[in-house]
Amino acid sequence: MKSVWWIKRDFRISDNQCLDEASKQSSTLLPFFCWEPEILNHGDYSLFHLQAQMEGVLGLYKSLKKRGLISRVVMGNIVEQLETLFKLYPFQAIYSHQETGNLISFNRDNTVRKWCIARGIKWIEKNPSSVMRGGNADQRRLKLRQSDFRKQKPLAIPVFEQLKSVPQPLAKAPLSWGELTRAVPKFSGSNQNSSLVKVDEKSALETLASFLENRGIGYAGGISSPNSAFESGSRLSSHLAWGTISLRSVFDQLDKRRVELKDDHDRSQWNRSLRAFESRLFWRDHFIQRLEAFPELENKALNSAYADLIYEDDLSNLDAWVNGRTGYPMVDACMRCLQECGFLNFRMRAMVVSFACYGLHLSWKTIHEPLAGMFHDYEPGIHLSQLQMQAGVIGFNAIRVYSPRKQFLDHDPNALFVRKWIPELRDKTPAEIAHADESFIDGYIPGIVNLKDRSQEMKNRVFAIRKSASAKKTTQKMLKLHGSQKQKKPQRKKTSPKGQMTLFKTLRSGKT
Ligand SMILES: Cc1cc2nc3c(=O)[nH]c(=O)nc-3n(C[C@H](O)[C@H](O)[C@H](O)COP(=O)(O)OP(=O)(O)OC[C@H]3O[C@@H](n4cnc5c(N)ncnc54)[C@H](O)[C@@H]3O)c2cc1C
Repeated sequence: MKSVWWIKRDFRISDNQCLDEASKQSSTLLPFFCWEPEILNHGDYSLFHLQAQMEGVLGLYKSLKKRGLISRVVMGNIVEQLETLFKLYPFQAIYSHQETGNLISFNRDNTVRKWCIARGIKWIEKNPSSVMRGGNADQRRLKLRQSDFRKQKPLAIPVFEQLKSVPQPLAKAPLSWGELTRAVPKFSGSNQNSSLVKVDEKSALETLASFLENRGIGYAGGISSPNSAFESGSRLSSHLAWGTISLRSVFDQLDKRRVELKDDHDRSQWNRSLRAFESRLFWRDHFIQRLEAFPELENKALNSAYADLIYEDDLSNLDAWVNGRTGYPMVDACMRCLQECGFLNFRMRAMVVSFACYGLHLSWKTIHEPLAGMFHDYEPGIHLSQLQMQAGVIGFNAIRVYSPRKQFLDHDPNALFVRKWIPELRDKTPAEIAHADESFIDGYIPGIVNLKDRSQEMKNRVFAIRKSASAKKTTQKMLKLHGSQKQKKPQRKKTSPKGQMTLFKTLRSGKT
């Protein structure tokens, strides 16, 4: 059988079910990657993603070539490219991994499916996760009781010796950075960014090894601060998002490391950290399942009760937020850091979203694309779920409004992070920085909004919906379909330390 492996976000040769099965079931196999203008031109796709994918394609192309497999990398409409290929190389099957992506990739897959049916081609989609095709969290839960794919043993790198060679003229080498940026006007003339994580299989394995051997001991506690999370966090998010490592391989290595640590004198600290890490890994598929169940998540609130929540969406506020010029140092430092490094820890991501939605009254829809573009590890299912959760429009999660001042005092008390990203504040003391939003500091702007009043206003709007009978009904339904098994009980309010913002008195969670 002549086959094509359509490479999507799975730039790896180890634990790759498509490559494994296709190489066993086919007489000839052509790895094929297509740069799709519709995806490249979409608002959620950025230069960071272009660089990530270019590195992913190149790394994979080289590994396959070393093993005697030639690949074809093209640019254009996927169906037209498949049609051209089919005329040159009449294949019977396409292997690809099952993707849960944005609406463009969802619709694109439907078009490819129709084309395959019309041409009599078998499209074999392999599921690289525990996400259930077309299912929701409730259905996935039942399936997971029987077996959990994530805990199965990863596949080894396949051998390709038995495969017949694909005719040489089919080979097409990966496009260079210059070719890619010239082909997409919005990226024209842009340079690569050396601050980004390198997206290839070798770097993914090295990152996992350094985390499990050394860095991971500081995970519990370390991931809350932007000063330590770059080191104490696994930093696997870009690799998992672009598929340079499989989730199953990460779980496998984690289990092996736990055995090794049995006699380690730091084992209790390691265990605490690895447990916390593992729970995050488990969250991945839970959130991606939400997008799988509700493909319109980028346009619509999961909970329809919040569809008409009013946001002013002032574009000058959006511009200030995106460019780190809001006058709130912790928010500005985070946004400037994101612009440069494409990474931020969970807590700070949640804070910048909360600030945008509650403080600036920007809708989660308005900030979705700029923020997705700034995340090098952009994973639509996690991103959109978190965005709606932090905006408070899911309905069944506690509403958390993060105080940038509290985050600064708790997680950057010596102002290392803020001073690094905001040169205007380099000679200011932490106390001055904590109150920068209400001061006039030469070269830095005072807060562009009164956060206390604005947040209260937005909370009132959200709570007004939340309290309504119709919203309560929809929320119950959403909770069953999309909630996790254990919903957190509302926690009792903690007393805010003296001098910190006492904005959030009505909050049901004190963890902000
Ligand atoms: C508004 C917002 C948007 C986000 N967007 C993304 C995104 O596009 N892509 C992304 O990978 N993560 C996203 N996250 C989740 C989280 O912030 C990142 O996964 C984490 O900061 C990455 O750091 P790490 O690789 O060191 O992860 P670790 O803390 O070491 O965790 C290991 C892995 O678990 C997964 N993970 C961690 N936290 C979560 C979570 N809360 N939900 C689901 N999976 C999780 C990631 O794959 C991560 O790489 C978002 C969070 C928020 C609040």
